[in-house]
Amino acid sequence: MSEDKDYPVSTLRHSTAHLMASAVKELYPNVQLGIGPAIEDGFYYDFLTEKPFTPEDLTKIEKRMRDIVKRKASPFVRDEMSKEEAKRFFDEQGESLKVELIEETPEEEVFSTYTHQTPQGPFIDWCRGPHVPNTKVLKHFKLTKLAAAYWRGDEKRPQLQRIYGTAFFEQEELDDYLKRLEEAEKRDHRRLGRELGLFLISSEVGVGLPLWLPKGAMLRRTLEEFIRTELLKRGYQPVVTPHIAKADLFRTSGHMTAYAESMYPVMDREHEEFVLKPVNCPFHIQIYKSQARSYRDLPLRFAEFGTVYRWEQSGEVGGLTRVRGFTQDDAHLFLMPEQLREEFKRNVELVLLVLNRLNMTYTARVGFRDPNKPDKYVGSSEAWEQSQGALLAAVQELGEEMGMAYTVEEGEAAIYGPKLDFMVKDAIGRQWQLGTVQVDYVLPERFNLEYTGPDGNPHRPVMIHRAPFGSFERFVGVLIEHFAGAFPLWLAPEQVRLLPIADRHQEYARGVAERLKADGFRVEVDERVERTGFKIREAQLHKIPYMLIVGDNEVESGSVSVRARDAGDLGPTPVEDLIARLKQEQD
Ligand SMILES: [Zn+2]
Ligand SMILES: [Zn+2]
Repeated sequence: MSEDKDYPVSTLRHSTAHLMASAVKELYPNVQLGIGPAIEDGFYYDFLTEKPFTPEDLTKIEKRMRDIVKRKASPFVRDEMSKEEAKRFFDEQGESLKVELIEETPEEEVFSTYTHQTPQGPFIDWCRGPHVPNTKVLKHFKLTKLAAAYWRGDEKRPQLQRIYGTAFFEQEELDDYLKRLEEAEKRDHRRLGRELGLFLISSEVGVGLPLWLPKGAMLRRTLEEFIRTELLKRGYQPVVTPHIAKADLFRTSGHMTAYAESMYPVMDREHEEFVLKPVNCPFHIQIYKSQARSYRDLPLRFAEFGTVYRWEQSGEVGGLTRVRGFTQDDAHLFLMPEQLREEFKRNVELVLLVLNRLNMTYTARVGFRDPNKPDKYVGSSEAWEQSQGALLAAVQELGEEMGMAYTVEEGEAAIYGPKLDFMVKDAIGRQWQLGTVQVDYVLPERFNLEYTGPDGNPHRPVMIHRAPFGSFERFVGVLIEHFAGAFPLWLAPEQVRLLPIADRHQEYARGVAERLKADGFRVEVDERVERTGFKIREAQLHKIPYMLIVGDNEVESGSVSVRARDAGDLGPTPVEDLIARLKQEQD
């Protein structure tokens, strides 16, 4: 680190926010200042304006920032005021938002201001600091985007204009960051979901309630088949349960108290209360309880692609990754305590099978309860100690056997027990919790579950809740970004597209399509009257793994001209050879 950089990058970024505010005030003198902190990857500043900023304004502001530094580089100078002085000063400046914050700050705080010079005079901001020594070091910055934000996050207060930006010590770092941002936008699953015809968010249906389009539903079905096959091999039994239930069911489970904020309100009919289910567990528990269970029956494994409904605030909902209704690849296992370790391990192996199959890199996180917030959880302290101890022991063993690294974090448990979550990183480095395996001693107690042991006496089973994908919605959202929409052959909703060059080639093309379909491949024929070049470009845009072009030569020789998305032009290929190639790649 050179002398120049004897401060963290957050100081550099926050100082750039001051510079931005001074540029904004020069260009738009009537704007009022909100706050301007450094955040992860950059900074922002909020402004109260008469009309929203435009992208052109952003360019202007950035240009002015560079101008200020070039024409009048200046140190950041710290001063102190009393609360009264600070209030009077910012009041005179017309900064009513600042005055509001100053008024709420206790008298005994130090009211520090930081001043830097611009060609038009000093710019003074009320701020705790610290800042860079001089504006001349503010060189490698970029204003990145505009957003609206309520003053102090309160929807009853005025809406402010938020300008985001970022700054780095070196131009190279800034360029890298901007490239990553661009790549992330290219991979954004909301954009790709629309372009590839995978899913739709309809404002008439509501945010957070995605509609799966035919191609997206096909992708989802392929994932369902994949996991269904694995579950049957592993001794799971499918069950199906309804979307609503009596509220009392969720009173017994504890969700109506510990999880109330995430649930939809109670529906009242004929003096009975119903709720939309936020989880599937109590239904599977009822199935367990529907008959007497013996130790010989255990483990019992009930699996369901169960759709659940959870309230998310509108600001947090987006695309497929944060939704208000979603389908978990859920299952509940009922075990004797001595079977816990083995079953837990088998479930972790299943999650890893899924992630490895899709080339996803993950980190594992053990989530314990937050000991300072007991009302967020249900169950006795003994039950928690038992389940946290059992889970940690199993994870430690797995860590050694399978080389699985993990962290332990408090406050990340489910309401009834600790869990092991698998976190996958997406294109912009955001972490998403996908697969999960949870250990539960609490619900068996609350629902008074029993089995008859070898000794003829009743015993309490332990439960495992697990979902290797987590939910189909979030998993597919992350998957779209992970592959940038270019799914591997086995997952691609449309695997092969036939492009007949002229009308007279259509019948042959249809015949080839039928042969491929007979082998289980997902095939379309593009019979539109368009130039072949246009059809090829469109198939590329849709990221179809294989394009088969057929003209006179192909019809005559019983072949197809193959263009592979990944391997490029493969030339004329007999249909039988192509089928063999596809089968091999698919497996
Ligand atoms: Zn500051
Ligand atoms: Zn569950």
